[in-house]
Amino acid sequence: MSSNYHVALVVPVFNEEETVELFVTTIKEKLASILDHLEIVFVDDGSKDKTAALIDSLIKSEEGTVKISLIGLSRNFGKEAAMSAAIDLIEADAIVPMDVDLQDPPELILEFIKVWQEQKVDTVYGVRVDRSTDTGVKRVTSGGFYRVFNRLSSKVKIPENAGDFRLIDKKVIATVRALPESNRFMKGLFAWPGFTSKGVAYKRPERSAGKTKWNYWKLWNFALDGIISFSSLPLRVWSYIGGAIGFIAFLYMLYIILDTLITGVDAPGYASLMCVVLFLGAVQLISIGVLGEYLGRMSEEVKHRPVYVVSKIKGNLSTNLQGGINKTTNGLYVNERQD
Ligand code: UDP
Ligand code: MG
Repeated sequence: MSSNYHVALVVPVFNEEETVELFVTTIKEKLASILDHLEIVFVDDGSKDKTAALIDSLIKSEEGTVKISLIGLSRNFGKEAAMSAAIDLIEADAIVPMDVDLQDPPELILEFIKVWQEQKVDTVYGVRVDRSTDTGVKRVTSGGFYRVFNRLSSKVKIPENAGDFRLIDKKVIATVRALPESNRFMKGLFAWPGFTSKGVAYKRPERSAGKTKWNYWKLWNFALDGIISFSSLPLRVWSYIGGAIGFIAFLYMLYIILDTLITGVDAPGYASLMCVVLFLGAVQLISIGVLGEYLGRMSEEVKHRPVYVVSKIKGNLSTNLQGGINKTTNGLYVNERQD
């Protein structure tokens, strides 16, 4: 292993007072051999509990053992935005986004670093081989998501069962930073630059404490965000569906005309008429709905609002930001720097 490298662990936290301390203790214990090369960067995603205060005291109490810093956002922007903030602000040879609840086993980072250095790959991602800690429904829906995503997205493929837990080299990070969209579906954006990558298998454990912030409605919208920002097929498919229905309708029309000419007018036909009207009505509403999904997201992009607002930075994060108002690559940093 090269002796001179610097890896930043990016840890978004939202109301995680129950888990932050255990996270730091576990990192110190499991990664003791490489602690000098590490930095923990928490991104407080607008927590309402004692999370920020706890991290603050950890920064002080851990001085000399492990480098910890805190990027505080001005409100809850969501995990993707929190990760974007860290990616924009951190200078490191590689970063590892990970959850604070220890569902991403820290000891795997040793393996990540080994593969990154010895095999010279730019992204080393964790692949969940055994998802027995997830519910059956979660496994089926997430499996379905990866299949649908990779079918619809023609160029960018995301590895199945890989979360955000991965080691990403600085050149991939620099590319991700440069992507201009406000919808930061990180799994897709991390895959977009390409370069070389390799998967490392692991078993995903249960949450160390606290509760998951996800529910199925959020996951559904997250999946739509991902698919819509990487594929326009759902938008374009309607002309083909319309064409196919139109062709069938034309044949049916010929049949009705001939039938009327030969056997004369026969008035009943309520049932078939109703079926056609209802079916076409549904098809039209669905297609308008799909338009709406794209249009809504396009209007978000057009507004071009900052992806996040950083309101404080604590600890010894090396950035070149001054006090006052700074524009970062994808967001804003508004505050005096307070160390
Ligand atoms: N998280 C965040 N902002 C949010 C929701 C979650 O920063 O709006 C963080 C959370 O604190 C945790 C990570 O994202 O560190 C993963 O969240 P969670 O464990 O709830 O998700 P799951 O593992 O169930 O997918
Ligand atoms: Mg979790």
